[in-house]
Amino acid sequence: MGRILDGVLKEFGRLAVIPRMSCHEKAVSDFLKGYLEELGCTVVQDEVCNIIADKPASPGFEGAPLVILQGHMDMVCVAKEGYDYDPWKDPIRLRRTEKYLEAEGTSLGSDDGIGVAISLYLLKTLQHHGPLRVIFTVDEEQGMTGAVHLDRKYLMDAKFLINCDSEDYDEITVGCAGSVHLDFSRTLGRRKAMSGKAFRIEVKGLKGGHSGECIGMGRGNAIRTLAGVLRALHGKGAVEMASFDGGKARNAIPASAAAVIVTDLPEDGIQGVLEEQAQDFRWRYGDAEQDISISMVPVEMPKRVWEEEDMLALLRLLQIMHSGVYAMSQAVPGLVETSANIGIARTEGDEVLVQCMPRSSSDQSIHEFCRTAEDLAALAGFDVRIHAKTPAWKENKGSRLVRLMTEIFRQQNGHPMKVGIIHAGLECGWHFQKNPGLDIVSIGVTTENIHTPEERLVLSTVEPQVRLISEALRRIAQCNPALDIPSAGE
Ligand SMILES: [Zn+2]
Repeated sequence: MGRILDGVLKEFGRLAVIPRMSCHEKAVSDFLKGYLEELGCTVVQDEVCNIIADKPASPGFEGAPLVILQGHMDMVCVAKEGYDYDPWKDPIRLRRTEKYLEAEGTSLGSDDGIGVAISLYLLKTLQHHGPLRVIFTVDEEQGMTGAVHLDRKYLMDAKFLINCDSEDYDEITVGCAGSVHLDFSRTLGRRKAMSGKAFRIEVKGLKGGHSGECIGMGRGNAIRTLAGVLRALHGKGAVEMASFDGGKARNAIPASAAAVIVTDLPEDGIQGVLEEQAQDFRWRYGDAEQDISISMVPVEMPKRVWEEEDMLALLRLLQIMHSGVYAMSQAVPGLVETSANIGIARTEGDEVLVQCMPRSSSDQSIHEFCRTAEDLAALAGFDVRIHAKTPAWKENKGSRLVRLMTEIFRQQNGHPMKVGIIHAGLECGWHFQKNPGLDIVSIGVTTENIHTPEERLVLSTVEPQVRLISEALRRIAQCNPALDIPSAGE
């Protein structure tokens, strides 16, 4: 039975040799265009390099509804520390073990190379299908600009869309959150430090994690925690600040943050405040966060420090701005409806920057965040840039595609498929906004540690995924003109 797996991995191998980091997809897009034409498709390469390819129905199924298979061609390119890898030039070197497909030293690009590979494999091998379209977008990982720019006409004539960019073969996703980027900035005034000694205060050891998937796990935010520590120190004596930096990405909960301060407080006084703050933090977050450390190290006296009002403005903003879960869903138990993450705070030249990312399955809540961000910025003395707003994908309760695919999955695998809504973004939000009548689901092969050099794909989940999609396409092709999908046995 390894024939399907071998066939899919062969397609995956064709992609792995072409460098394809986000925003640099020309080469892979050109390859896909030529390859899909060879497979008998009519192909459009749009101005951002998205690929839209149509394959006519197999004989006898011309009247069936159009189905879209969709994935993204770009990948996150990261390497192990010290591994020699040039993402502009180097291929991904694949390694197949008994259980996994992995890459040597780098991310694998199964997100979303496997979605693209499975679509290619299906185009080549399917016997019974109605009209089929594959859409491979660019730049899903950084800005979803491929999905944003996709002409809605390619979504309007279809009935069903299967997005192949999820990460568990036995889960079907039926809704996702929208989001927005809020960038706060303030120009800093500088002066000579008044007095005292300089220290680096660092908060670290927090769990961090993805700002969508992990925001409901009761974790602390290192940037916000550090702001609280500095506020507490400021209440005890003179504190001046020379820098404040924390977080690695807007969409990651920051696990560490550090500031350089100048103060006349005695060292044991500072130490006492840090211990008290760490204790408060442990009480507040309980078992979710016990490894926090808040440390102080003497450092060289900085040449300049911030004006006091700049320091206070930043600390106030970081204390007042929402960070963490904002609202739980009323409809779906356990689902975070709205959240916000302060992902980055950074001193850059003469400016301090704070990047925040609210998410919500309600577009209205996102609008509300944008509106209050302007008020918050005005009150705190910051400028704010509001951008990269992405729409939420709302669950379609009457989805026939969900009914069909969960039924097929159960028949083929003997256990039910989980149906869920995620508190993270998918390109489906854009597809749904362009055609709310499109019946959309998102599925995927099981992958682990995506966006890291430890990314790997669970080989045993490839074949069930291929069989699920082929059978769904077969049944959709055979449905009657009223578009009622026959159930098993019919
Ligand atoms: Zn992806």
